[in-house]
Amino acid sequence: MPLSPCKALRGQGYQFFSPDSSAAVKPCLWCKKALKGGEQCYKHQFYGIESHRCVQMTPTLRCNHRCLFCWRSFEHEYPGERECTPEEILAGLHDLQKRALSGYKVSPYVTRERFLEALMPAHVAISLSGEPTLYSHLPGLVDLLKARGFTTFLVSNGTNPDILSRCAPFQTYVSLPAPDKETYLRICRPVEDYWDRIRDSLSLLGTRRSAVRVTLVRGLNDHGPDHYAALIQDSGASYIEIKGYMYLGYSRKRLSREHMPEHAYIREFAGRVSEHCDYRITNENKASRVVLLEKVE
Ligand code: SF4
Repeated sequence: MPLSPCKALRGQGYQFFSPDSSAAVKPCLWCKKALKGGEQCYKHQFYGIESHRCVQMTPTLRCNHRCLFCWRSFEHEYPGERECTPEEILAGLHDLQKRALSGYKVSPYVTRERFLEALMPAHVAISLSGEPTLYSHLPGLVDLLKARGFTTFLVSNGTNPDILSRCAPFQTYVSLPAPDKETYLRICRPVEDYWDRIRDSLSLLGTRRSAVRVTLVRGLNDHGPDHYAALIQDSGASYIEIKGYMYLGYSRKRLSREHMPEHAYIREFAGRVSEHCDYRITNENKASRVVLLEKVE
């Protein structure tokens, strides 16, 4: 008998806020590595975020894209789900993180001090899976987290600029999945054509701390560096992250290992984007296959 979506995802480490909602927490690989005193995520190197004090969560697993490179399964959606309130999410945050990390308490590699720090997260990455702007209380959730002292990273596919414009996270990410509309429609397989809305979301970034994220998939969207550059230049975002597609999760059913670019390839592509705009490479992380660009004034 096939597993129910919730059951299958629980087996993968998802912790749900409520049985009738897809709002969830899942500690990422880097959180666990950092807890054991190992390497931290590239967000530590680029922005100073401590991985073991970061909660990776989403207020919904729903999405209006079906990106070929997405690690989530498109079957794991809850059409009739209830939306948790921001207060419910805030109340469950510590408990779910604690439950997810409880096994590490007895690990010989985890110091008591680091374990206690991990139970007191300082940062919330609203980026796990699904599109957070489909959650109607997103602006209120971001405000509440901020009021409780968390820094927040909000990662959106840019399809709801109206909601995004009402959110004030510490750092706003908008994904730019393609250099042009045709490639976008082929790769993201959206419910509707949202290309113009993505452009509207990009235009919000110049007035806030922000990043454009490009997930580079070899052979699919690794063309038109000048088109990427023009979109990036217009956005005025603080940072650009060009990151390689990773052959992980359910994306393995849609793509192959060959779609995964090497770090050197990503760096070379980032260099070509840089030639067509005022952004320059300022940092890179080989383990995460990501290159950072920042605007030169
Ligand atoms: S927008 Fe994000 S969550 Fe939605 S399908 Fe694409 S990669 Fe997955």
